[in-house]
Amino acid sequence: MKLPRSSLIQAACAVAILILPFTGLIPDYWITLFNYIGISSLVAIGLVLLTGVGGMTSFGQAAFVGFGAYTTAVLTVQYGLSPWLTLPLAVVVTMIAAALIGAVTVRLSGHYLPLGTIAWGIAFFYLFGNISWLGAHDGMSGIPPLRLGSHALIHPRDYFVVVWIAVVLAVVATQNLLGGRVGRAIRALRRSTRAAEAFGVNTAGAKLMVFVYAAMLAGLAGWLYAHFQRSVSPGPFGITAGTEYLLMAVLGGAGRVYGAILGAAGITFLRDQLQDLLPWLLGHTGNYEIIAFGAVLVLILQTSPNGLWPILFGPPSAPKLPQPRAGQHLPERELPAPGTPLLQAEQAQKSFGGLVAVNAVSFEVECGRIIGLIGPNGAGKSTTFNLITGVLPLTSGRIEFEGHPLQAQTPQRAAALGLARTFQHVEIVADMSVIENVALGANLRGHAGVLRSIFRLDRAEEALLFASAMRQLDRVGLAEVAFEPAGTLALGQLRLVEVARALCLNPVLLLLDEPAAGLRVGEKKALARLLREVRAEGVSVLLVEHDMDFVMSLADRLVVLDFGTKIAEGAPALIRQDPVVLEAYLGGVS
Ligand code: ADP
Ligand code: MG
Repeated sequence: MKLPRSSLIQAACAVAILILPFTGLIPDYWITLFNYIGISSLVAIGLVLLTGVGGMTSFGQAAFVGFGAYTTAVLTVQYGLSPWLTLPLAVVVTMIAAALIGAVTVRLSGHYLPLGTIAWGIAFFYLFGNISWLGAHDGMSGIPPLRLGSHALIHPRDYFVVVWIAVVLAVVATQNLLGGRVGRAIRALRRSTRAAEAFGVNTAGAKLMVFVYAAMLAGLAGWLYAHFQRSVSPGPFGITAGTEYLLMAVLGGAGRVYGAILGAAGITFLRDQLQDLLPWLLGHTGNYEIIAFGAVLVLILQTSPNGLWPILFGPPSAPKLPQPRAGQHLPERELPAPGTPLLQAEQAQKSFGGLVAVNAVSFEVECGRIIGLIGPNGAGKSTTFNLITGVLPLTSGRIEFEGHPLQAQTPQRAAALGLARTFQHVEIVADMSVIENVALGANLRGHAGVLRSIFRLDRAEEALLFASAMRQLDRVGLAEVAFEPAGTLALGQLRLVEVARALCLNPVLLLLDEPAAGLRVGEKKALARLLREVRAEGVSVLLVEHDMDFVMSLADRLVVLDFGTKIAEGAPALIRQDPVVLEAYLGGVS
C-alpha cells in the first residue's frame, strides 16, 4: 500500500517527537511539562470536536477527566487491579457517565447548554470532594505507576512516550472520524442543522455521539493523569480546570485537531510562566493566572475567533478523496413509472398562531413530472415545502407520499423515503469543501459508522459516495470548484451546490425552493436543461420559482397559491391567461 506523502510526514514528525526526550537535550522539568501538555491535549481534542466542530460549548470537561482518574484510582488502590486493566474500565465508566449526562445536556439549546455544563462541572467537583471512599477533599494517593514488565514508568521521560502515543492515536482517530461520513454529519451540526436533518442525519444522536467521544478522550486523559501524578484530588477536575481546557481549544483553533495541541501547549506554558511571574509582580501569591487567561480569551475572541492555528498555518487543505474502482457506483433506487401518483396533499393546513400560512391546499404530484408551485411572496410556498419534508407538522389535513402519510414525519424520514430538497435561504456548511457538502446529500446511501471511520475501513464506501457527489457537481457545472471551501462561492453557485446535494440523495421527488434566484442567464439555461434531464430519468420535481419564464417553460402543471390558498391549477398556458391569477399574482399585468 502506498501512503500519501502527508501521512509519511506526519508519521515522521510523530516518531521524532517520541524520541526527543531520550536525546538528553531536554531537561526533565520540560519533559514533565510536555507530559501535562499531552494529557491536556487529549481533553482539548475532544473539545475541538464538541465545541469547535459540533458547536456545543462545554465548561465541564474536567469532570470527565475526574471520572477517568478516580475510576482508576479506586480500582488500583482499593481493589488492587493492574493499571492496564483499569484503562478500558476508566474509559468506559467515563463514557457511560457522559452518555447519561449528555442525554439530558445536549438537548439544551443556545446558552442553556454551556450553563448546563457549568452546573454539572460544579456538581461533580463537590461530589468528588464529599465522597469519603474517594478520599473527600484530600483525594487518594498511592496510585501505582504504569509498568512494562518489571519496569515502572515513573521517570517523566518514560511517561512521555505513553502520553504522546495516546495523543498521536487520538489525533489520527479524530481526523479519520471527521473526514468520514459521520464526520460530515458532525461538521454540519453547527453550521446547518436543517441541512443535516434534511439529508437524514439524526442530529440528537450525532450530538450525543460527539459528547461521548469527547468524554472518552477526557477519561483517557484522566487515567494518564492519575498514573503520572500517582494521586488524585478534586482540585484539577473542577470548573476552573474545565474553563482552562475550553480556553486551550479556543486558543489553538476550535475547529482544528492540531490546534488543540497548540492551545494546550500555549495555555500550559503560559500558566507555568505566570505562576512565577505574577506573584513576583504583584507581591502576593494567588491564582492570578486565571485573570490573565480571561484576558487572553477575550483577546482571542475579539481578534481571531478561529484561534491561532489558521493564522499560523492557513486554512485546512482540501480532502484527499479515495478513488472508486472502475465501474463501481452506488446502487440507485427504482423509480415508479412516469405518471404514477406520488404525492397527494389533501386539505393541507398550517397555522402559525392566528396566521393561516397554508389554507386547505390540495394538489398532486405524479412521477416524472415537474410541478410548479407559484404565488407571490408570503403565499405559503416554503411552508408547503416544510410540511411535505417533515420540518413542520400539519395543523390539519393529509399529505401522502407513495401511500405513506407524511404528517408528524421527521425530515430524516422524509429523506429516507426519497424526498430531497433545497432551501430558499441556502443551508450550506461554509467551512467544508463543496464536494463534502454535496456528499452530505448521499448520507443515507452510506452506512459507515464511527468505528469504521476511525479505523479507515470506510474507504471503499467513501470512494463511491464521493464519486456520486462529483458526478452531481459535474452535472450542475461546478466540478472545478469541488475542492474549494463552500463559503467562498457566490450565492448563485451555492444554489446549484444545493441542487447537486439534493440529487446526490438519489431522490424520487426533488423539491426546489427558488433554485434560479441569483443565477445568471447562462446558468439558468443550464439548470433548466438539467431539470428536464432529471425528469426524463423519472424523478419528479416540485419547483418554487419567481422567474415566470423559467418555471412556465419547464413545468408540466402549475399550482398557484395566494395568501395560503390555492387559487388555480393547470397547464402553464392556461395559468398564463387565468384572470384570477393575473389579478392576484401578476397584479393584473400580463
Ligand atoms: P412563501 O415561501 O410563499 O414566500 P412562506 O411559506 O415562507 O411564503 O410564508 C407564508 C406565511 O407564513 C408568511 O406570512 C410568513 O410570514 C409565515 N410564516 C412562515 N414561517 C413561519 C413561522 N415559522 N412562524 C410564523 N410565521 C411563519
Ligand atoms: Mg418562500
